[in-house]
Amino acid sequence: MIAALRAADLGAKTVLVTRDGFGGMAANDGPVPVRTLAHAARLLRDARQLDRYGIAVGEPILDYTRLLARVREVVEDVRAHSTFRVQLDQLGVVVNEHCGIVRFTDRHTVEVGNGLRLNADRFIICTGGTSRKLSVPGAELTATHSDAWALTVVPPSMVVIGGGATGAQVASVFNAFGSRIQLFQAGPRILPAEDEEVSGTMADAFRESGIEVRENFGVIESFEKTPEGIRMRFSKDGEQQSTEASLAVIAIGWTANTAGLDLARAGIETDKRDFVRVDEFLRTSAQHVFAAGDVTGRMMLVPQAIQAGFVAATNALRGATMKELNAPAPIGSFTEPEYAQVGLTEARAQANGEIVVARVSFDSTTRTIIDGRTHGFCKLIVDSNNRQILGCHVVGERAVEITQVAAVCMAAHMRVDDLAQVPLSFPTYAGVLGRVAAQASRTLNLKLNWQAN
Ligand SMILES: Cc1cc2nc3c(=O)[nH]c(=O)nc-3n(C[C@H](O)[C@H](O)[C@H](O)COP(=O)(O)OP(=O)(O)OC[C@H]3O[C@@H](n4cnc5c(N)ncnc54)[C@H](O)[C@@H]3O)c2cc1C
Repeated sequence: MIAALRAADLGAKTVLVTRDGFGGMAANDGPVPVRTLAHAARLLRDARQLDRYGIAVGEPILDYTRLLARVREVVEDVRAHSTFRVQLDQLGVVVNEHCGIVRFTDRHTVEVGNGLRLNADRFIICTGGTSRKLSVPGAELTATHSDAWALTVVPPSMVVIGGGATGAQVASVFNAFGSRIQLFQAGPRILPAEDEEVSGTMADAFRESGIEVRENFGVIESFEKTPEGIRMRFSKDGEQQSTEASLAVIAIGWTANTAGLDLARAGIETDKRDFVRVDEFLRTSAQHVFAAGDVTGRMMLVPQAIQAGFVAATNALRGATMKELNAPAPIGSFTEPEYAQVGLTEARAQANGEIVVARVSFDSTTRTIIDGRTHGFCKLIVDSNNRQILGCHVVGERAVEITQVAAVCMAAHMRVDDLAQVPLSFPTYAGVLGRVAAQASRTLNLKLNWQAN
């Protein structure tokens, strides 16, 4: 959408062709539907808290069919309010959606699933990604996160394979909906891209909430059908084991959506991980073809895909001049509890130089106590020499929003003692940043004129 908008804005006659509905993964299969389910999970949790605040209601009961209707309503509502479509129309972009797989027939021609052939000087590939598949016997019996969202009933039990962001989100949502969840992680910790303390705290919280978390579980050998669902056979250190559930969801990573594109016909190369290879200007090995978003295998998130679409289209039309910005990127997930990060983990920051680490627990901040959400912490990592914030890691309520504020401070190259003196509103979740910044400042012996939180 953004690549097409930018190309048209720069004066190119532009056609947008897409296999599925307008809006891509974010609108149809990723963040929007997932957040709606995560919101429902949170409402269930909040409803259970009402009694503590003197509000008497019965035990909440989930009507999954009605929840799915709400998910569809939200997806439609978001789509209807998207201004992108209007802007594309205003700029004269021809939008072809639901038109099947697009494939290159030569360097300057693509053929669309519905028979349409398009000839162009420049192309921008934004076909996104897809779940990585397992290649073991019976893998076809397993589901992906997309299948999980499309279920019509909540399965009594679920094995989730993969403890990264998607697996953790699936496990957390369906645990809240009443499924018995086993979360299998091949490596030593779930959420391996997070700070180690975040991974550990999340694993403990998941276990406390009833999720069976199994790190270093071994190697999957096969899946087979059972009367109640599916059996997974796996082995560890030569010992055969198995587990059963109603459904097995595979969330072992993401790969580029390039199947059927016939990239070789246009001279477009992929890298070792099968993502489209691009240079710093998002130009592929074919000089007239650019690529943006998940298909390039870079940071696979909506804001990054948006920026890359803009950069790719600019370079396609104006020549290779623009690079992506290297701004701090907050990342988080809406699990229970929430977690989020921006910048370096403690381990990476420590390897780079001298640092100070400050940590405030959520059982000591006013707003979390008011709301009865005292589980979690906020950790700030600061460069001892120049006082700049290198990273922020949060587990707990509003973690994602808190790290956004930290990201703004980092983008502005704010010093930790300056952050400590911003009068952040009281009592708020983001206010924890003032406290943790003050703690880091004291460790660094920095003089504060006053301290807000
Ligand atoms: C469960 C889940 C949760 C997520 N949560 C978040 C989140 O909270 N925040 C966040 O920032 N990101 C999140 N993401 C990631 C985010 O959805 C992606 O990074 C983003 O959508 C990538 O945008 P894109 O334009 O590169 O690709 P996509 O949005 O995937 O769009 C690709 C489009 O190309 C079409 N297409 C594919 N192949 C072809 C073909 N051969 N011919 C024609 N059309 C084709 C597809 O139909 C699709 O419309 C999540 C992803 C998942 C799976």
